[in-house]
Amino acid sequence: MPHVAVDDKLREECGVLGIFARGLDVVRLGYFGLFALQHRGQESAGLAVSAGEGIALHKGRGLVSEAFNESHIAALAALNPHIALGHVRYSTAGPSDLDNSQPLYDRGDNSPDHGDGSPGRSIPLALAHNGNLIGMERLKAELAAQGAVFGTTSDSEMILLLLRQYLTNDLKEALIMALNKVRGAYSLVLCTNNELVGVRDPQGFRPLCLGRLGDGYILASESAAIEALGGELWRDVEPGEMVVIDDTGVHFSRFAEAKPSSCIFEYVYFARNDSIIDGQNVYEARVALGRRLAEEQPVIADLVISVPDSGTPAAIGYAACSKLPYVEGLVKNRYVGRTFIQPGQALRELKVRLKFTPNPSVVRGKRIIIIDDSIVRGTTMKLLVSTLRQAGASEVHVRVSCPPYIAPCHFGIDTPSTGELVATRYDTEGIRRMIGADSLGYLSKEGMLKVLAGGQRQFCLGCFTGEYPVPLPHEERAEARRAEEDWGDVRG
Ligand code: 5GP
Ligand code: MG
Repeated sequence: MPHVAVDDKLREECGVLGIFARGLDVVRLGYFGLFALQHRGQESAGLAVSAGEGIALHKGRGLVSEAFNESHIAALAALNPHIALGHVRYSTAGPSDLDNSQPLYDRGDNSPDHGDGSPGRSIPLALAHNGNLIGMERLKAELAAQGAVFGTTSDSEMILLLLRQYLTNDLKEALIMALNKVRGAYSLVLCTNNELVGVRDPQGFRPLCLGRLGDGYILASESAAIEALGGELWRDVEPGEMVVIDDTGVHFSRFAEAKPSSCIFEYVYFARNDSIIDGQNVYEARVALGRRLAEEQPVIADLVISVPDSGTPAAIGYAACSKLPYVEGLVKNRYVGRTFIQPGQALRELKVRLKFTPNPSVVRGKRIIIIDDSIVRGTTMKLLVSTLRQAGASEVHVRVSCPPYIAPCHFGIDTPSTGELVATRYDTEGIRRMIGADSLGYLSKEGMLKVLAGGQRQFCLGCFTGEYPVPLPHEERAEARRAEEDWGDVRG
């Protein structure tokens, strides 16, 4: 029986980390850094390290604390490495098999002869990827025809295979050639024996930032990991930029024109409150989203509560703007984390029940505004509205600090099937009825964009609009068909 996390609504992508620091314990730093990124993936964790002669790797299932024990750490630390590469991940559907977990590793000792007498550069490579590549089927078939052997079913391996194919001499050049072949979302950290590299795709879908740590450097999905390690955020890796770190220092270069459209859902839900992404503090963004929500969707009530933890900053902003008290109406059980039981609606509901308990003495007889960052299936909110009523709330008004979630993500967030997204089946009034609330209000798309960088920045809004900044494979095929038909018309 495959184990599937019951939390199968949206599997939140991955977290990546890289450390280059001589004279520091990069293994323990890497291990702790992964804890700081744990919210980005809880199904597997791994660390690859290098001391200049080869790469050693450990990865395991589950939380960082489950994937590693002291002997794993000690074995890696005994190598006295100066490079560490880390990854936490949510698996895609089905069993979270270890082969697909990361960092991916290629020993490099059987790289092909390139036909011109120059042997493949036989260095080891390790790679950690956050994001999702699109339209990879054709490329996969091409590589397979050339004899490539796939060790995993993950799209990330394609980058590694391409890189190996092009790697005759210069790593940077080979990487640029490989990246020219792929599309979609990739924040990558990779390493060789003596280089640590960070890459962010031209759209900058997923975050990636660079920090200093003493004389060394950290690359991380989120600045919170840099702070947690006692480092200092230097700057974001820019969309279309590559950063190579070696003993001579940090080398920045651009491999593609930037076409920024970073994921707006990072600000709504994914990222940690204390991270700064592309210059914007996530907590402040969330509070501002809540303020804006109060302006757009006011309602007469007594108290504002949140669905902790992700709804809390928006609730604080909503309460401040509407001059209502913000109180803790729901107690969250933080130990109900990953629960590996068969998925299904009944167990999903049981889990929400275990996770949130209303505090009757706070909500009894009160008109409550409950704020959450997002509604996906509607399971959470439906249960919460009914338990709040059972606890004596006289009215329950639901406010959501993003627009209706209507379309799947193709760029690194594993969304439930479209039919399971409640906003694809009902309009707002239908959802209100389904969750049993007295009223329901979402933040508008315009409001959300205004709050985030005053409408000056470009974001991927795919989950709220169904329109994506990079054409999807079927759109491309349709486009090609249209072009062919047009051509046919001209000829005919
Ligand atoms: P629903 O019960 O409507 O399917 O999910 C809504 C709740 O899930 C909200 O509290 C929201 O904070 C949370 N949420 C949103 N995106 C994700 C995600 O990717 N993973 C998990 N575990 N929760 C999410
Ligand atoms: Mg939540």
